[in-house]
Amino acid sequence: MNANDIYFRKNIYSKSNNEIYNELTHITHDGGHNVYDLNQEQKFDLSLFADDKIAPGLFKPDQSNPQKFYANSLTIRALKKNILLAGEDFDEFAEIYVCEKCNKELDLQFWHFCPFCETQFRAQI
Ligand SMILES: [Zn+2]
Repeated sequence: MNANDIYFRKNIYSKSNNEIYNELTHITHDGGHNVYDLNQEQKFDLSLFADDKIAPGLFKPDQSNPQKFYANSLTIRALKKNILLAGEDFDEFAEIYVCEKCNKELDLQFWHFCPFCETQFRAQI
């Protein structure tokens, strides 16, 4: 990866799926070859259902359907829809952030705002 990877991570929580997708097509190795082969794209559909008995920030898998999960309505609002995972490893674009209000550690690639306390993220300059 090169310097545009740093730009890619910056404020990733505020980027749309299309913006992330476009940026991925421009990430190159130092030799100029694309890092990601977007022809290898795979889609996974998961269903989320609101259950406010579950604490914010947590997901509860359905006992009988592995594609079905339950979460607090705050968690569902905070979660980015159409999450784009760039590689086999989910940590590839991890951008760890500690919430200023509740001190929970979050990965900014998955959230619009803090799913635990609803605090907006501070923009990275
Ligand atoms: Zn928080």
